Amino acid sequence: MALPPDRIDRFARHIVLPEIGGAGQVALAERHVALVGLGGIGSPALQYLAGAGIGRFTLIDDGRVELSNLQRQTIYAERDVGHGKAVSARRWLANFDQAIAVELADRRVGADTARAAIAGADLVLDGTDNFATRLAISDACVASGIPLLSAAVGRFQGQVGAFAGHLPGEACYRCYVGDAFDADDCDTCAEDGMLGAMSGWTGTFAAMQAVRVLLDDKSAFGDPQWGRLHLLDGLKPAMRTLRIAKDPACRGCGTPPDA
Ligand SMILES: [Zn+2]
Repeated sequence: MALPPDRIDRFARHIVLPEIGGAGQVALAERHVALVGLGGIGSPALQYLAGAGIGRFTLIDDGRVELSNLQRQTIYAERDVGHGKAVSARRWLANFDQAIAVELADRRVGADTARAAIAGADLVLDGTDNFATRLAISDACVASGIPLLSAAVGRFQGQVGAFAGHLPGEACYRCYVGDAFDADDCDTCAEDGMLGAMSGWTGTFAAMQAVRVLLDDKSAFGDPQWGRLHLLDGLKPAMRTLRIAKDPACRGCGTPPDA
């Protein structure tokens, strides 16, 4: 595949980077990202991934835009309030770049529906706000052999980690958090509050890490950094990185005892 002249012009600042280059840009155009959760993380992540020239998205969210979302969910405007997030996100994408293919899933994603929702994706970016959904998505990623970039944010703290539990020796998100959160244990963003720019930092950092995963073996920037969890502290500000090990007994990605 070669990029047409208008696309070469559009992505000129990428293509001139030796770490991405023409080959990397072509690879991005061939990639399909499933975005689960179109909120404080999903909004800026979608903007930078669409800007990066990702060719196809599946947009997954069953929520509606509320006025209090506009403080940090950057793809929505006042006219979107009361409308579905997935539909509104598709409208943002259509205005931004007509060349991007998009599929919608505006049903709630759970253990029974996650696999179908993410089918065909090269990467799942999870920006949802509760552990039950995150674990359902993680299990679906392992079962489908799809890498997972997990991102979360609250108050002044963010975290972004890349997981490939389908690969031998690599952790999944369940290895990290364990089984205790399968019950619907929602993070309390409404009660705890969140600095808008903090979700922007976390979401755009997740977009950058997603590009790293998507360019694995395609250009020098490609480096999925499996099992590394980056912690973003907006108060100091500072970052640090943890290494998540595979749990051999993990219910999501471990080897069953009788296998
Ligand atoms: Zn695991």
